[in-house]
Amino acid sequence: MQAQNIDDVMVHEATHSVTKGVNEVLITAATNDDALAAAMVEGFSDAIAVLYSEKFNPPGDTKVAEELFKNPSDVRDISEPTTLDDFVDSSDPGIQHQNGKIFGNMIYRARQAGLSIDQAAKATILILDQVNRDEGLVGDKFDQKDIKDALERISILDQVIGEILETVWSDMNGYEDPPTGGGGSNPPYAPSYVTGFFTGCTGTVSTYLDSWGSSTGASYYNMYYSTTGGSYTYFGSSNFPSSTVYNTVNGYVKISACNSYGCSSLSNNAFFQPHICGE
Ligand SMILES: [Zn+2]
Repeated sequence: MQAQNIDDVMVHEATHSVTKGVNEVLITAATNDDALAAAMVEGFSDAIAVLYSEKFNPPGDTKVAEELFKNPSDVRDISEPTTLDDFVDSSDPGIQHQNGKIFGNMIYRARQAGLSIDQAAKATILILDQVNRDEGLVGDKFDQKDIKDALERISILDQVIGEILETVWSDMNGYEDPPTGGGGSNPPYAPSYVTGFFTGCTGTVSTYLDSWGSSTGASYYNMYYSTTGGSYTYFGSSNFPSSTVYNTVNGYVKISACNSYGCSSLSNNAFFQPHICGE
């Protein structure tokens, strides 16, 4: 089971990897002393970390790194009202993270305005994906209007993406949408999908964040692994639809959703291939 209290830092760092994947230009700008690009990268990583804690450890909190740093000025609270007027043009890492609150607070305010956790996360990633420094968006006044524009695109895309995703899951795994209403006085249905991404090395061991669709009526989840994709062995439980997974060899993971009436069948699998760690 993961240590929930440092999740926010792990998710922050994982979001940097995602950002690099979707918009390397933005990351290059941020690492080349473009303080505004760095602020966006840091602030949106903090926003995703806060959204993650809201989603998987409700009610979550708006602070990032509060368990990691003793110096309160290193902790970011995205609920603090912060605007571009507070921007300090400096590439000092401490200042970049504080500048980040400008962007973290945009997402916080979008949540306050009624956006769901998932919509806010999609908006954040979409903006990170679409910001084009060469066309001056980062150097320009990036503001709430950019978020609103992104949201408008999302509301149209959201439904389409959802339908495509269901088709993809179904094609890959023979999965069909279970009827709603698992739980009650029955065991829950198996999670509809399992996924995960590499978050770093612990010594020679690869670390992944494994997550799966939450199942209605589930009170906990049992995790199973296999090194071949053949027979699966129980290796732990999680109260949340996510957990940290460690491996040094190929691993397949399946999930069973449980409550006091019993456990579901095993889900489809996610595959985790170890990275080169501890060289
Ligand atoms: Zn960072």
